Amino acid sequence: MKKILCLLIFSLFIFMGCTKKEVESQYDKIIKRDVLIVGVKTDTIPFGFISETTHQPEGFDIDVARYIAQDILGNSRKIKFVSVEAGNKIEAVASGEVDMIIATMSITPQRQLLIDFSKPYYFAGQTALVREDSNIHTFSDLKHKTTIVVLGTTAENNIRRIIPTARIIGYKNYTEAFNSFIQGNADAISTDDTILSGFLINHKGYRILKNKISKEPYAIGLRKPEDGEDDRLKRNVDQIITRMYQDGTLRELKKKWNLT
Ligand code: GLU
Repeated sequence: MKKILCLLIFSLFIFMGCTKKEVESQYDKIIKRDVLIVGVKTDTIPFGFISETTHQPEGFDIDVARYIAQDILGNSRKIKFVSVEAGNKIEAVASGEVDMIIATMSITPQRQLLIDFSKPYYFAGQTALVREDSNIHTFSDLKHKTTIVVLGTTAENNIRRIIPTARIIGYKNYTEAFNSFIQGNADAISTDDTILSGFLINHKGYRILKNKISKEPYAIGLRKPEDGEDDRLKRNVDQIITRMYQDGTLRELKKKWNLT
């Protein structure tokens, strides 16, 4: 009886060994494909936008993507950019449609349940934009006022939590949100300082509130490895970011895109 039991347990181990899933890692997929697929913003100056002269994506996040492609594939042009918005970027990376998201995306505990994040490569903060002659000077002035946000952003969450009496109008992307604000549909628009300063490059007659209500550490979003899949892509991306700090690339990019 004991012998039979041992045999059974032994066979079970062999069976489990044979059925263990062999999963190709995302890193190997990229190497095999020889192209890095990156989800980026295309309406967020100066991080990800379409250049009026080249009609190609440009910006701080695009340059970070090119540095990563250069490192992993030896060529900064071996990239396919996919345009993502706040509302679909998590799904785009979680489903494997893109290898990574580099799109002004803040690390949050809720998002960490769904995807992995690299270490941060930039630190922003949430503030708000109002018309120059507005009587709004601090966030508490937004009580009972109308504020535009992009749906699915940390800004939307923060405003709802911090100023529950604010009236909120939500849009899917920044093109729609800024257009609506310009048309006078709200008293303020709230998002990261970086994105609001980017808007001011081409628009006069507005100002940004001095105080910030959050810290927004931007990081690269990656799919969580499946069972049996290694996390080589995340380890690699973290090393690349460390190098970008050490070799001065991130400092140079801040200068290039006029960020403080
Ligand atoms: N950093 C904010 C976030 O991750 C806003 C970025 C965006 O609108 O894409 O939600």
